[in-house]
Amino acid sequence: MMKDKVIVSSIQRFSLHDGPGIRTTIFFKGCNLKCPWCSNPENINFNIQEYFDGNERKYYGYEISLSDLEKEILKDKIYYENGGGVTFSGGDGLLPFKKIEPLLQKLQKEKINICVETSLVVSDELVNIAIKYVDTFIVDLKIIDEKNAYKINTNVSLYKKNIEKLFSNNCNVIFRIPLVPDYTYTVDNVSKILNFLKKYKPQLVQIFKLHRLGEKKYESLNMKMPEFKEITLEEINKLKEKIEILGIKVEYCQI
Ligand code: SF4
Repeated sequence: MMKDKVIVSSIQRFSLHDGPGIRTTIFFKGCNLKCPWCSNPENINFNIQEYFDGNERKYYGYEISLSDLEKEILKDKIYYENGGGVTFSGGDGLLPFKKIEPLLQKLQKEKINICVETSLVVSDELVNIAIKYVDTFIVDLKIIDEKNAYKINTNVSLYKKNIEKLFSNNCNVIFRIPLVPDYTYTVDNVSKILNFLKKYKPQLVQIFKLHRLGEKKYESLNMKMPEFKEITLEEINKLKEKIEILGIKVEYCQI
């Protein structure tokens, strides 16, 4: 792949759930984690992947140059008033940041609001680049208990180090917590999450219930979607209350 090209799986326009205002969301391919509930399994692998839709050969992902990506983003500039802008997602939206830094510079010059959705299990170098350009970080808060980190292939100490860096640089951070029994929703992990939130007091926490929406995509990739339990509404409300008691705004997002 050429130096100024990236692999995108899709571009979603008029998105209302990926940060403030109306946004254009760029989904990059590639993620370091392996969450069993992932509803976008086609974005985990970093490369373009072939699949069949009936007899038709199709592909997850395509190459796009940074200048074409810039054009795609600026097409929607008129809708970015009232705080809207571009959101880099994935996969992990932060992973291509070294490559897209020239694009980030241009967008910043054009005063386009920039959000990134990330697991934050990324290198120091990428975090340093992101801090220069990103207006709002939408960060996953999943397993922060070292002994269970293997369940989703995360790196808790790297994650915590990166979070510390964002908050010490006064970055805007929204935490997203997927609630999955036996993974993120265990007595131990929930108590660690509450302590974490108490320490950092983010501007917003979004909590989610996970469904098996990605099942068809797993099949198209000849993969089986892993099993996981669904959380109950009662459990969601209980946790929502516990976060609110900390004085933190929390939203239950239904997807
Ligand atoms: S971090 Fe997100 S994209 Fe990556 S595996 Fe987990 S749910 Fe999927």
